[in-house]
Amino acid sequence: MDLDDVFAERQSGPTQLEPGSANAVGRMLGLLGDEWTLLIIQQGLQGVGRFGQLMSAMPISNSVLTSRLNLLVREGLLRRNIYQTNPLRAEYVVTDRSRALWPFMLAIWDWEGRWVDEHADQLPTMRHERCGSDFVPVLACGSCGAPVEAKDVAAEWGPSGSWERSVPESITRRRSDSDTTRSMSGLFPETMLVFGNRWSSALLGAAFRGVTRFSDFEANLGAPPTVVAERLKAFCAIGILAAGQNAQRPDWAEYRLTEKGRAFYPVIATSLQWAQEWFHAPEGPALLQHHRTCGEAFDATFRCDQCDEVLTGAEVTIVGRDTPNTSGETDEY
Ligand SMILES: [Zn+2]
Ligand SMILES: [Zn+2]
Repeated sequence: MDLDDVFAERQSGPTQLEPGSANAVGRMLGLLGDEWTLLIIQQGLQGVGRFGQLMSAMPISNSVLTSRLNLLVREGLLRRNIYQTNPLRAEYVVTDRSRALWPFMLAIWDWEGRWVDEHADQLPTMRHERCGSDFVPVLACGSCGAPVEAKDVAAEWGPSGSWERSVPESITRRRSDSDTTRSMSGLFPETMLVFGNRWSSALLGAAFRGVTRFSDFEANLGAPPTVVAERLKAFCAIGILAAGQNAQRPDWAEYRLTEKGRAFYPVIATSLQWAQEWFHAPEGPALLQHHRTCGEAFDATFRCDQCDEVLTGAEVTIVGRDTPNTSGETDEY
């Protein structure tokens, strides 16, 4: 058994985390808060996994691609498949763990396509094979089927949950936090701005939990005021948050999620769902969530806005447009 098989075997089910270590949220943010990882997974889901193909599909350097591929194999998100022995040639294929990211990728495409102007024309179109229509994914409760927004879901920390244990585990080497706030490839610019940095994801989490005041953001994040100020400014600049005044105390600035900010919730919901499914802490889950309307544990699903059926990965087809690797042909997950 070679090393790849050992990894594959170990990673075929959920990862059992060490007691007291980074929880499912921290592990997820550490892995998915990296644009190259998202781009490589995106390619993998569309069947692209050879080194040369990946090099031409995105503006990535040889060494960065090599290090990301090794990381993703180690983390069970890709499997190395040798398709030729002389000379040795390997391709990287998606695993159950990375295939399970399709709702998250769908959520990002949908949000960027809808809310980031320069993207409207270059993101792939999504088709639901069951009804044959181009569709928009609608986040819904897996128990009662009702459409769900952030305000409909009650969340509290579970036994392994806390801010400290949810800080992204830094798996890739980063020069500084601010480096990761800039999109490297420009393909998911705003998603990376809100997701690709530990302070950003914590700040967004606080905003969704109803935090509005500077001092409360500061207390929630445990971050230096300059960092909080800089993140709030960046979020306001892209229209995720809007600054205003408190009605009772005009000297208090308030930062509230805009419609664009609230529309990011499906990305958060699907990422948390994936995190809790694939990373198990011995103490129990990091987050306990329930759907306020039906009272059941919240299971994030997507429904088709055209036929209202629950979407499955096998029935969603990506129709490429001007993405670097596709030329109008259809790739199925
Ligand atoms: Zn429900
Ligand atoms: Zn449909």
